[in-house]
Amino acid sequence: MLQSKLLSKTLRESPKDEVSQNAILLTRAGYVDKLMAGVYSYLPLGLRVLNKIKQIIRQEMNALGAQEILMPALTPKEIWVKSGNWSKIDVLFKLKGSGDKDYALGATHEEVVTPLVKKFAASYRDLPAAVYQIQDKFRDEPRAKSGLLRGREFSMKDLYSFHASETDLEEFYQKAMQAYFNVFTRCGLKARLVEASGGTFSKYSHEFQVLTESGEDNIVVCNQCDFAQNTEICSLKVGVPCPKCGQGVQLVKAIEVGNIFKLMTKFTKAFDYQYVDEGGKRQPVLMGCYGIGPSRIMGAVAEICQDAKGLIWPAALTPFHAHLLLLDASKKKQADQLYQDLIAAGYDLLYDDRLESAGFKLKDADLIGINIQLIVGEKAGDQVEYRFRNDSAKGKADFNQVVKLLEKEYVQ
Ligand code: ATP
Ligand code: MG
Repeated sequence: MLQSKLLSKTLRESPKDEVSQNAILLTRAGYVDKLMAGVYSYLPLGLRVLNKIKQIIRQEMNALGAQEILMPALTPKEIWVKSGNWSKIDVLFKLKGSGDKDYALGATHEEVVTPLVKKFAASYRDLPAAVYQIQDKFRDEPRAKSGLLRGREFSMKDLYSFHASETDLEEFYQKAMQAYFNVFTRCGLKARLVEASGGTFSKYSHEFQVLTESGEDNIVVCNQCDFAQNTEICSLKVGVPCPKCGQGVQLVKAIEVGNIFKLMTKFTKAFDYQYVDEGGKRQPVLMGCYGIGPSRIMGAVAEICQDAKGLIWPAALTPFHAHLLLLDASKKKQADQLYQDLIAAGYDLLYDDRLESAGFKLKDADLIGINIQLIVGEKAGDQVEYRFRNDSAKGKADFNQVVKLLEKEYVQ
């Protein structure tokens, strides 16, 4: 992609109506554009990152044996009344259609998925069943000042599993937990498993929290063992011993990037979903739900992977494999050739072919934060200079060495 044609421009100044670091940086670097509070367009650079996150999640969900589906975002009032959530979910966007009919925009999809799976998994032979979707959710969040971290329209991956027994649910729950850790690690995030209020049927749900000052959640964590609880439920005070290992606990801020729940029969009861066991008897179906926010992950990475100059994307999420910078106009032929050859070798490049000063282009490249910069300028002669945005390596390389470098970073 030629940068001269890219639909976005970098901004030197912070946008006036943003307070969160992720929104400021992602807007300045040309990844997103705000339509209104909590609602963003994804520009070409931003969509590439979001799609990479979704793809990692998709791979991990498929590996779990879950099947991808897509449910509607526009839903009728009746299903929400049935579950009790029409009045209970205060952030539900409600709208009126013709004939005075009431609708809601999907804030979560238990009300759609439960009667859906009921149609196709009625026998013990059909269970367990697990389906997921990656879709935009709508919530009328009262506070939408945190950029991608708290959207009113935001991307969610929601997985639902259905089981004949509690043991089976527990087994899947543990596997899903591991899949979630895989997702966050692959996205370059260190997530901590945190106990949170589980609603009516199980003692705890589990949240995946990324510890950072910019988080909205307050978490009590033990530094010695893996104990961690959300303060929304726990009443532990700082300085008291950890209930698990006896050491002191600490209060920290964190971003919730994922959440898994055992719903048990909460929704299967409401939608009268039972299965027929081997003896022909009707039995309750047990259910679990598992959410991850791809757009919130993108916001969290932007909050954490950055320095004073701009964004620093982890290799797995970088919008392009490399950012090719032409800093000396007399070397345009060399840069054009490198661009063509690397594309032919299978790599995605953003090529800064603009007629701007070297300093301007370098500043932009640091702000945009593509993992590897390839610089064609005076310094390297016939070779190119390469530089990892996270400062882990830099040097000079000829074409074959550049290909090796990219191969090592992205193919293995
Ligand atoms: P929170 O406690 O932050 O309001 P939640 O517990 O209501 O979130 P879930 O309903 O469990 O969230 O949603 C699953 C995942 O979707 C969350 O873990 C988070 O990653 C993401 N998510 C939830 N709400 C938002 C939002 N308003 N904007 C962006 N991502 C969100
Ligand atoms: Mg939560």
